[in-house]
Amino acid sequence: MEQELELYVHIPFCAKKCNYCDFLSFPASQKVQQDYVNQLLSEIGNTASICGDYGVRSVFIGGGTPSLLEPQHIRAVMDAIRQGYHLNRDAEITIECNPSSAMRHKFSLYQKAGINRLSIGLQSADNDELRMLGRLHTFEEFLKCYQGARMEGFRNINIDLINCLPMQTLKTWKKTLRTVLMLKPEHVSVYNLIVEEGTPFAGMQQEGLLMLPSEEETLAIDSFTREYMEKMGYQRYEISNYAKPGYACRHNIGYWTEVPYIGFGLGASSFFDKLRWSNTRELSDYMAADFRWEEGFSAVRQEVHALSRKEMIEEFMFLGLRMSEGVSETEFLLRFQRRIDLVYGEQLRKFSELGLLSHEEGRWRFTPRGMDLSNAVLSEFLLEEEV
Ligand code: SF4
Repeated sequence: MEQELELYVHIPFCAKKCNYCDFLSFPASQKVQQDYVNQLLSEIGNTASICGDYGVRSVFIGGGTPSLLEPQHIRAVMDAIRQGYHLNRDAEITIECNPSSAMRHKFSLYQKAGINRLSIGLQSADNDELRMLGRLHTFEEFLKCYQGARMEGFRNINIDLINCLPMQTLKTWKKTLRTVLMLKPEHVSVYNLIVEEGTPFAGMQQEGLLMLPSEEETLAIDSFTREYMEKMGYQRYEISNYAKPGYACRHNIGYWTEVPYIGFGLGASSFFDKLRWSNTRELSDYMAADFRWEEGFSAVRQEVHALSRKEMIEEFMFLGLRMSEGVSETEFLLRFQRRIDLVYGEQLRKFSELGLLSHEEGRWRFTPRGMDLSNAVLSEFLLEEEV
């Protein structure tokens, strides 16, 4: 049987940086965008020979803002993938869109390029919050974008939201979530705001100008989200991801269940042939690489390494616990030849007693409250030494 593979394509361009964002993205001229796409096509084409035995189950074109590119660039990327790889007939093919750059004519060209899933970054349905986040679109522009996508025939749409924003209250968040769910998207991702170093928000926080919700308000926002999403028929299949039955994102699930993936473009990471690596984050280095030769790839790929046993165990727990399915103690034993309780007995006991983990039918899972506090809990699953 063909092995499965996922492909990720990074488009690092944005019209303007949002105030909270530390992703690898920046504004660039049309010429730079065009040159970058040519380089991407070369990387994609020259990687294909090592992927002959793999069936591609998903492609994710992310960023940055992929919808900023001319749609024919996206078409060229998809053509290069089709030409060099075995794209499964039912492959999930997603592109991230920003409501300020996703116009209806682009959706029709995305359809022609075989893209069957959109992920639209809305973040909030409140125009004041959107302005404060530094977003370039209003809620009304998002609506136009969403309706345009539906009219062009997209039947699988994710909407990205961020909560626990400065000055946000449970009331304003409820309004955002209720408004968004009225649109009946198939998938919703909800992230708590994290103030990342080096962003304008971090500067404001240092000056005491960022009024974030208290811990109590954050818990109330999280509980409401969880309960309301469930009431409206969405399953929480991962800490930040909710989907209608049958619409969980296959690409994300692949990451969390260790399906091999190859990332193309600036800063993209890969996990292939038991090795992990990340492409350079320097645009000039990426643009200078000649992918016709092995040296071109080695100049771009950084931190190529195989995971140690300790790292594999940690990753198994981090990725598995993120999913609502949790981790199987039998699978742990089969993979690592050690019982899970001999490695993590203390953590499993402690978080079960606190009501954050549950143990049923041989699987360890977060409880709903555990999912809300997952960052703090997961950090205790780092191992101090090899086991
Ligand atoms: S559009 Fe997305 S990637 Fe670009 S700056 Fe804003 S949050 Fe970051």
